[in-house]
Amino acid sequence: MQEIILIKIGELFLKGANKKDFERKLIKNIKLKINEFGDFKVELSQSVITVTPVNLKTVLEDVLEAIGDVFGINSFSRAALCNKDIKSIKSCSKVYLKDQILKTRTFKVETNRADKSFPLSSYEISATLGEYLLNEFDHLKVDVHKPELTIYVEIRKSGAYIRGNPIKGVGGLPARSCGKVLSLISGGIDSPVSSFLMAKRGADVLALHFTSPPYTSKRAEDKVISLIKRLNRYLMSTRLIFINIAQIQEKIKKHCKEEYFTLIMRRFMMKIAEKIALENNCGAIVTGESLGQVASQTLNALICTNVACKHLPVLRPLIGMDKNDIIKIAEEIGTFSTSILPYEDCCTVFTPKHPKTKPSLEYVLEEENKLDCESLINTAIEGMCSMIIGSER
Ligand code: ATP
Ligand code: MG
Repeated sequence: MQEIILIKIGELFLKGANKKDFERKLIKNIKLKINEFGDFKVELSQSVITVTPVNLKTVLEDVLEAIGDVFGINSFSRAALCNKDIKSIKSCSKVYLKDQILKTRTFKVETNRADKSFPLSSYEISATLGEYLLNEFDHLKVDVHKPELTIYVEIRKSGAYIRGNPIKGVGGLPARSCGKVLSLISGGIDSPVSSFLMAKRGADVLALHFTSPPYTSKRAEDKVISLIKRLNRYLMSTRLIFINIAQIQEKIKKHCKEEYFTLIMRRFMMKIAEKIALENNCGAIVTGESLGQVASQTLNALICTNVACKHLPVLRPLIGMDKNDIIKIAEEIGTFSTSILPYEDCCTVFTPKHPKTKPSLEYVLEEENKLDCESLINTAIEGMCSMIIGSER
């Protein structure tokens, strides 16, 4: 019996004229993701993608797990391909879905007869198979409204496909289908989640991390690399840029009032980010800020950092989310356990005892103007280094 994977694509049906491009991107991403598991035929027909193993180097479960990480997929199922006659459909359903049937009490059969030359109607196929399974499994009952198990039969030119309940996909839009963004990644809980959410909406994520040696360590950098490796289960590969802002921090500490230290530093981060984003054709900057979470994320503080970016929008996917909800996503995507490792971040270096929670932009600029911002920014950017990070799996 040949087993295949049927994939229902997500929101792509909303995309009108661009639909074809999105579909092509999705198919390319699926192929890239499952490539290591063997050779596959990947075909699209009527918003369903069929993945047929031609030479499988592993078990199908590995392929299913990988497909579970591909953005743009609503749901997917493994399905058995059998001969297009009712006898084969009955025996295949009984054997192939036995494990699922034994775990369930109520079921129904749904049939889609794309091949109209099949002698029975969809209704007749569902009724015949339903009756057969009721006779074969004493514990089963039919429930057409809320069945625990729905058995799907699809009659196509190539044969009959039998499958049970689908597995939920990760959703979103195909990776790298909606333009490029520069995402500011710290080693914390929030920013990996904000990068994930943007990537899920199809953004091509370029990552930027600020370091501050000797105040921050190599371990803090390695932490960010491991976070990105985890994210690459979904993003596949990511370029990570490192910028050292120790010198900027020292200058702020020396010349500016302590209560403005964090805000001025964050404005530097945003200005540097904008320059790098523009040089790399990014259409936006992304942060993991959430309203009111810390002193630098009050509305007044956000006004001060936001205006540091003159040309590009700053996207904050977590702005209205509670920390607990952010943590839930971090756990689901596997970044949480790394994020909580206790290594220092440049934002925790020289933090003021009493940061301003209602800063005025005027005072912030007055303090900031004591520094030669342009030259400090250029020097920091000149020292940048970057690396391409692949997936963990
Ligand atoms: P996170 O959990 O993401 O570290 P946070 O609540 O600790 O967030 P802050 O430290 O104020 O908040 O940082 C706010 C945002 O600024 C982060 O979400 C991230 O986008 C960016 N950021 C903070 N530190 C760095 C860094 N070292 N490099 C790059 N971006 C950073
Ligand atoms: Mg942080």
